[in-house]
Amino acid sequence: MSIVVVGSVALDSVRTPYGNANQVLGGSASYFSLAARHFAGVHLVAVVGEDFSAGEEAILRDAGVDLGGLERRPGRTFRWGGEYGPDLADRETLFTELNVFGDFHPRLSAAAAAASTVFLANIHPSLQHEVLDQIETPRLTAVDTMNLWIESEREAVLELLRRVDLVLLSDEEARLLSGEIQLPKAGRKILEMGAAQLIVKKGENGALFFSPRERFFCPAYPLEEVVDPTGAGDAFAGGLLGYLDRENGQPQPPLRAAMICGAALASFSVEGFSPRRLVEVSRHEIAERIEAIRGLTQVPRVPLWQTGPA
Ligand code: AMP
Repeated sequence: MSIVVVGSVALDSVRTPYGNANQVLGGSASYFSLAARHFAGVHLVAVVGEDFSAGEEAILRDAGVDLGGLERRPGRTFRWGGEYGPDLADRETLFTELNVFGDFHPRLSAAAAAASTVFLANIHPSLQHEVLDQIETPRLTAVDTMNLWIESEREAVLELLRRVDLVLLSDEEARLLSGEIQLPKAGRKILEMGAAQLIVKKGENGALFFSPRERFFCPAYPLEEVVDPTGAGDAFAGGLLGYLDRENGQPQPPLRAAMICGAALASFSVEGFSPRRLVEVSRHEIAERIEAIRGLTQVPRVPLWQTGPA
């Protein structure tokens, strides 16, 4: 059982009200892998440039992520810069430099192609399609994307949404894709557009699951201090798909439990800059936080009025 992820491995420069991080390890595939590896083996497929240091690579390798699919090419590593407003909810992208991703074509090793779960983390949709073309018979495929690609590559994104089992979007992306403001309506419309299952991530307000048969809400862990929200969505996906991959013999995928695992990993991710907390967090801490989130959602029956004859 293992997961293959394609996405960005980046050098991020981030400003939040709590400080700055300059050219630190980031990228959708990095955050995802460092979260998912707590539950399952992860093969990472991406490209970096000559400026990607041995130290950054060691963060991923020492965490047990299979880097057989991480190519090193002449040129500069993907770079992204972002700045958060005072309440950490609004983010402005300051720059996106594709660099070595500009002419990258993912090639999956035999082990990666045979993985039981595939995650297409945020990257150009044509690369996400190229990965789906190479996989054998995974049990679960999931895709994430972002505003940039919904606006510039809408058709490719719509086609992806129909090719995979599960679509993950932020609330802003779900609104942009569907043209609807209210998320329940946006969710229904995205299912009608061909998504089999959808998770809409609402940051500190939790996440909503939509399928033709089921709706589910999973809260976010109410942290008192958030340092850097970057990568929370990818860490959520890592916890979610890591747990689903680990449990994938079950007749019914334990989706609700998996969403709680996603929320737990996302909450650790935002406690520090870069994926630092995902690297150092222990199994014990993860298990404790999963229980804390579960506890937040447990409500006894609410007896009200008796119905029927008095
Ligand atoms: P999130 O906060 O979940 O949106 O993820 C942020 C991460 O996505 C950062 O570490 C960035 O390096 C990465 N990222 C930002 N823009 C892009 C893009 N256009 N393609 C791929 N990865 C990106």
